[in-house]
Amino acid sequence: MATYPIVLIPGDGIGPEVASAVQRILRAAKAPLEWTERQAGITALEASGEVLPADTIESIRQVGTALKGPCTTPVGEGFTSVNVQLRKQLNLYAAVRPVRSLEGVSTRYDDVDLIIIRENTEGLYSGVENQVTDDVVMSMKVATQTACMRIARWAFRFATRRQLPKITVFHKANIMKITDGLFLKCARKIHEQEYPNIEYQELIVDAGCMRLVQDPTKFDILLLENLYGDVVSDLCAGMVGGLGVVPGANLGDERAVFEAVHGSAPDIAGQGLANPLALLMSAVMMLNHLSEKNSDKQCQAVAETIKNAYNLTLKEGAKTRDLGGDLGTDGFADAIIERLGKTAG
Ligand code: NAD
Repeated sequence: MATYPIVLIPGDGIGPEVASAVQRILRAAKAPLEWTERQAGITALEASGEVLPADTIESIRQVGTALKGPCTTPVGEGFTSVNVQLRKQLNLYAAVRPVRSLEGVSTRYDDVDLIIIRENTEGLYSGVENQVTDDVVMSMKVATQTACMRIARWAFRFATRRQLPKITVFHKANIMKITDGLFLKCARKIHEQEYPNIEYQELIVDAGCMRLVQDPTKFDILLLENLYGDVVSDLCAGMVGGLGVVPGANLGDERAVFEAVHGSAPDIAGQGLANPLALLMSAVMMLNHLSEKNSDKQCQAVAETIKNAYNLTLKEGAKTRDLGGDLGTDGFADAIIERLGKTAG
């Protein structure tokens, strides 16, 4: 059986707790992975004086795949986001976040099944901010045709591969006519010229959010620029049980970094309370990615085993506190490990 080298970045806050629980589950499931641990975030800053050490980036460049815990970013001051730097430096231009209702996790909705595709490299995350006068500060929203075409093409190709019938673009091109206008123009062009068979819809982001909470079943794939993608990801997480259950992948043409949508959750860090499921689901996405890339059916089987185990665990009511249960991070990981290889009876 082939084994795949993976860079593990535990990250900050709840990162090390959830990363260690996830590694334990992956080992118990005999996932064919070889780990190299690297640092990023406050943890790296304290250890080496840099938030994103060169050897972390270099290791991911060499190995190609990483599983990453969340990294803290100071609010309103301090260093620029490690996450943004990492995505830009490795050109991980597509963030993919599947949002699905889970049996055993009761929310206002029970039939959410959609995928968020977020442009990951530009928009208001370009980091170009200026103090213009004592009174005026400015933040630059950057859109390039190259990045807009690239993410649109990626989304339509993804929809085709996954046989998903419809893509909806959220935008604010009525106000940001040039930047969001370009995002829209590119999506339209790819739809018309390359994928006319896929249903295509455009909604102004505010109205789109209303429609989303009214009836999420009307959506298959949401294609969004960077900031809307960030905000709408957490909105959608709220519909299926919260940030503890939404995984993600940051994908480029050559490299892939898998991470949960949630942050470092300083409010619960170090207490053994965090839900490791979002990172575990991200690891399952990673195993499926490796299996597709290497045509490795065994790797896919391990992903399936883990998915069945966590679905069964939730269905049987074993849950962490964020989902209404009473288990801690490790107790929940143990509950999943006990159910590896079992299926719902
Ligand atoms: P957060 O996602 O860390 O937390 C929001 C809320 O959700 C908190 O109440 C938290 O306890 C809860 N939560 C999050 N993950 C959970 C889990 N796995 N289990 C149980 N509860 C969970 O968002 P925040 O508080 O706005 O941000 C904290 C820090 O994380 C900030 O520094 C932010 O910049 C950073 N952040 C990093 C990433 C990343 O690394 N990709 C993503 C988002 C935020």
